[in-house]
Amino acid sequence: MTKTRIHILLVEDEEALAENVAAFLEPRGHTLDFATDGAQALSLALEHHYDVVVLDLGLPRLDGRDVCRLIREKSTRHVPVLMLTARDSLDDKVLGFELGADDYLTKPFALEELEVRCVALSRRLTLPTERVIELGPLVVDRQRRTVTREGAPIALRNLGYRILEYLAESYPRTVTRSELTYKLWGDEPPDSDALRSHIYQVRAVLDKPFTWPILKTVSGVGFVLDLEEV
Ligand code: CA
Repeated sequence: MTKTRIHILLVEDEEALAENVAAFLEPRGHTLDFATDGAQALSLALEHHYDVVVLDLGLPRLDGRDVCRLIREKSTRHVPVLMLTARDSLDDKVLGFELGADDYLTKPFALEELEVRCVALSRRLTLPTERVIELGPLVVDRQRRTVTREGAPIALRNLGYRILEYLAESYPRTVTRSELTYKLWGDEPPDSDALRSHIYQVRAVLDKPFTWPILKTVSGVGFVLDLEEV
């Protein structure tokens, strides 16, 4: 079994605790970044692609609740958040989950426990997902390699299917042009118009026959599926 190495943002204003956690996790192959206040945590979490954010509840500047809420509001992808708290009341747990924490750990905790939870959270997103991805009107069957919208079959060629499958897997995150190009062609992309022409073909069957577009261009960035009819 290969050991999972993950990239963690540890947000903790108690220096001794942060040092303890690092001294345990780093020799086990994990990479840690640190923030000691909420504002710093928020900007790091939005800037980098962490597998997990371990977030203390009581923090200077912005507290953990606000950081978690703002990450959810502002991030284009789902950032797994494990909330740490010294309090052990049910109310705090409920509040933590309501604000979008994925998991919860009460201080004091065993460092092994922290590692197990972090690895589990990071895997939740990378596990082979369901055979069928259902996103509102859009259904992608990854085994049959078919797509339907509002029940109607969408006739896609191979690359068109792969574009849509990848956007569906990444939903609600925006996928950049370079990421999508790499996904389709690896290190040897054809000329830059190739992606554009495949996107055009996907739109012709996915969006044109319907009243509103699902495949949206995010200007200067890439593409995202928008599944809410406006
Ligand atoms: Ca604290």
